[in-house]
Amino acid sequence: MGAREFTRGRRVVARLAHGGDLLEEIAAVAEEHGMRTAELRAIGALQAARLAFYDQSAHEYGEFAVDAPVELIGLLGNVSLKDGAIFVHAHATLAGHDGACVAGHVAPGCVVFAGELVLQELVGEPLEREFDEVTGLALWRDL
Ligand code: ZN
Repeated sequence: MGAREFTRGRRVVARLAHGGDLLEEIAAVAEEHGMRTAELRAIGALQAARLAFYDQSAHEYGEFAVDAPVELIGLLGNVSLKDGAIFVHAHATLAGHDGACVAGHVAPGCVVFAGELVLQELVGEPLEREFDEVTGLALWRDL
C-alpha cells in the first residue's frame, strides 16, 4: 500500500462530442485544461462500446464489443500520466434497452451519443504510471 495526499483543484464540466471516442474526448478535456492528475465521472449514452476484462494469469486484456446503443449509467476513473502523456483509466457500467447491464474496463472504440463529464483536478506532484512486473499493468509509481 502506498498513498500520497493531493488537494482539490479546479472542477471542469464538459459535454462530450456526439460521435467522438469516449477516452479521446476525456483526454482532450484534461489536455485543454492542463489537468495531469484528476478524478472523473460521467453519465450519458453510447452508440456502441468496447469494454475489457483483465486476465490476471495471462496478464492481458480480453476485449468484447457491445454493438448496440446503451445508456452510460456510470463512468468512474482517473487521469494521470503515462510516458509523459495524459492517460485516462475508466470503468463503465452500461445498460441496454431492457436495463440489463454489462460493465468493464473502458477500451478505445466507445462511441459517444451524448455525454456529461465532470473532471476534478487533483493538485500535487502529478501521478505517473510505470510498468509493474507483478500485475503486468501500468500502475502509479512512488505510492
Ligand atoms: Zn481498468
